[in-house]
Amino acid sequence: MSPECVFVLDHYNDYISGELTPEKIARVENHLMSCPHCEKFLGRAFRIHGHTVGLLRIPAPRVLRKSISNLLDKA
Ligand SMILES: [Zn+2]
Repeated sequence: MSPECVFVLDHYNDYISGELTPEKIARVENHLMSCPHCEKFLGRAFRIHGHTVGLLRIPAPRVLRKSISNLLDKA
């Protein structure tokens, strides 16, 4: 594992959530072009992150929404 691989592993979370500085983003992306291992790893991390974000967008069950709206009507 090269020092650049370690750098990517240390920073991939911030990279995915868009919290890296432009310099660090460039460093990560430069490395991804030459390292299939990190590219694969980050691809997988992105998919997992996408799933997590997707889960948060699932609407509440109808029963729950109905009981919340009933409560609001009574308020
Ligand atoms: Zn690497």
